[in-house]
Amino acid sequence: MTDLTRLSAVETRQAIASGAASAVEVAQAHLDRIAAVDDRVHAFLHVDAEGALAQARRVDTGEVTGPLAGVPLALKDVICQEGIPTTVGSKILEGWRPPYDATLTTRLKGAGVVILGKTNMDEFAMGSSTEHSAYGPTHNPWDLTRIPGGSGGGSSAALASYQAPLAIGTDTGGSIRQPASVTGTVGVKPTYGGVSRYGLVAFSSSLDQAGPCARNVLDAALLHEVIAGYDPKDSTSIDAPVPPVVEAARSGDVKGLRIGVVKELQGDGYEPGVTARFNEAVEVLRGLGATVTEVSCPHFGYALPAYYLIAPSEASSNLARFDAVRYGLRVGDDGVRSLEEVMALTRAQGFGPEVKRRIILGTYALSSGYYDAYYGQAQKVRTLISGDFRKAWDSVDVLVAPTCPTVAFPLGAKLEDPLAMYKQDICSIPANLYGGPAASFPAGLSEGLPVGLQVMAPTLREDLLYLVGAALEQALPASVPTLDWE
Ligand code: GLN
Repeated sequence: MTDLTRLSAVETRQAIASGAASAVEVAQAHLDRIAAVDDRVHAFLHVDAEGALAQARRVDTGEVTGPLAGVPLALKDVICQEGIPTTVGSKILEGWRPPYDATLTTRLKGAGVVILGKTNMDEFAMGSSTEHSAYGPTHNPWDLTRIPGGSGGGSSAALASYQAPLAIGTDTGGSIRQPASVTGTVGVKPTYGGVSRYGLVAFSSSLDQAGPCARNVLDAALLHEVIAGYDPKDSTSIDAPVPPVVEAARSGDVKGLRIGVVKELQGDGYEPGVTARFNEAVEVLRGLGATVTEVSCPHFGYALPAYYLIAPSEASSNLARFDAVRYGLRVGDDGVRSLEEVMALTRAQGFGPEVKRRIILGTYALSSGYYDAYYGQAQKVRTLISGDFRKAWDSVDVLVAPTCPTVAFPLGAKLEDPLAMYKQDICSIPANLYGGPAASFPAGLSEGLPVGLQVMAPTLREDLLYLVGAALEQALPASVPTLDWE
């Protein structure tokens, strides 16, 4: 029998629907795979074998049906699942079990998707390597000595090591796209408001967006369709039809599509192998009938500093709720210490160094007397960056750039240098500040490691992302990791 863990989501569903395999067999194959390899990859923080098998049985009895019924999925640990430990990669939430499902989780369950467990991530989604997880790093299946990207490195590594055909990520400044880029997988950040944030642990509320991750474009589109759409429980949810992503993923026809290469997202600081694969991918798209021009987005160079004021400011406010009273950890509550002391001890022990850095940055940027100079200025820059996108749409349909300036770097290489770590997201952050959809698609290898092509589109035009992704996938032979460490 074929190895069920090597199938795409579409093939998995076909196998179940045709009776070639039961959903329970599919779930068990993935649980066995996790047991066999995850001691080395460390993609999962929690595996819910019982829940996964129970859901698979519901699919086998015909209780739930649909295009992804019975397909296993890895859920980033920032998303609430009722009764299942949700740590957000932090000690401060160790042992916390949410009393409710995120809307996204409800939708996955309703579609018959089998949630295998929760995946590792940088603490509170702050990072680009998953090394800021309080539970130890995840390893890149292409080379276990390298980072799998971050913050959603657990989700991307689970895909690349065949521990799950589907995963969910969240992207505040690149945390879906950069992990996809460095693991040779597909990751899509939908339009802000396109997927409900209800039940996501908040990092930066005006930027956070959950999205689909998969090993191929159509699988991602099918997952996108399950999780996207209006949710009255999220006040920023968009009440509009979900763009025709599955249709676009099945088509891949880019004839006449106007593609703009972002002038500011290339050159110095980009690894030569990344630039070479990027340029080749653009040529492939040109060869398929797209027109390619260079487009200048003059304010993109300010995206990183603006993001590192806005995101920490929102985080410093959002993370105030971890006060030793409402959730998770409580340190030093001996009946003698004051509430303030218990809060201070809990936060000092519960948060890791990167989270503390962000809270300090954000609190400073929001403090009276500095608010206008930092947070206020950053918001103005955000408006200018959105303006660059809107102007671009006068002449092109989509913008493209490398997803990330480098391939996966060795674990530890940037841990002592926060700025070098932050620069991983230099290409991905503009789309978050604007709010439009963006995705990373595999664009070949540089020195044996994956390179990603990023596509950015106008708000609510995620169909264009899938169109480009599908075109590229059809034209470029897929690279898969050798997994020679197995
Ligand atoms: N790497 C970026 C950061 O550290 C983005 C994280 C994200 O998208 N969640 O903030």
